[in-house]
Amino acid sequence: MEYHASQPFAVNNQNWEIDRTDNGTLVVGFPCISGWWYTPIDVYDDIADDVARLVDGEVDRSRLQVYRRGDDWYCTFTVEYDAEMGDETVIGVDIGHNQLLAADAETGESMLMSGREAKYVRRKYRSLRESLQQAGALRARNRVGDKEERRIRDLNHTASRRLIDWATQFENPVLKIEDLEGIRQGSDWRGVHSWHFHQLQEFVTYKAEQVGIRVEKVDPFETSQRCSACGGEGTRDGYHFSCVECDRGRHADLNAAENIRQREGEPCTA
Ligand SMILES: [Zn+2]
Repeated sequence: MEYHASQPFAVNNQNWEIDRTDNGTLVVGFPCISGWWYTPIDVYDDIADDVARLVDGEVDRSRLQVYRRGDDWYCTFTVEYDAEMGDETVIGVDIGHNQLLAADAETGESMLMSGREAKYVRRKYRSLRESLQQAGALRARNRVGDKEERRIRDLNHTASRRLIDWATQFENPVLKIEDLEGIRQGSDWRGVHSWHFHQLQEFVTYKAEQVGIRVEKVDPFETSQRCSACGGEGTRDGYHFSCVECDRGRHADLNAAENIRQREGEPCTA
């Protein structure tokens, strides 16, 4: 093979080899006129993992290029593998209990978003609607309903945005939420305000997917009644959950979020 110093020569796809000798030296081999030529190479630290995968045959190799710069020889090649790399961080999300939203990540971090404003909005418009209803002012009452809906929609947009922003700090975050099909009887989800929580869940799901975060749904059975540490039954005193069996105490919504995080999930789309 004739070599011109100014330009690299290339060996296509499968027609070259990379291997590790018994003493650990990396060797690149490619065909020359006189037969295959093998030469030891040094590998830059930041691509050592990729090269190891290449040697182990876990990834595909592409064109090899060899060139000379000054007194040194270099070779370059591309390593191809699926982008899905690294560990996932699972985050359980509980919606619409004491707090508007509670999230528990497997790293031990958690977040709570107050539902105070949403409760205030609902209370305010409910009393307004009731008094208009009594006065027989039906059209005005319906306008109040529209206003309430817009306020809640805004709150839901803000809350879901904040959750997604928080989730993106983790490595490959995956959200787990409750499957609304099997939602428990007697929970807030069954009440007249359930559309509020359904909407929030819908916003969380589509905003997650917009930024490439996978969302899974889990069985909602007793997520807020069971202890997230031992699975035993617990009691709730306001916001506080305490386990009868292992004595653990935690914020009730975070306990629920942790249960959701630990459950087997199924893929879900908005
Ligand atoms: Zn327990």
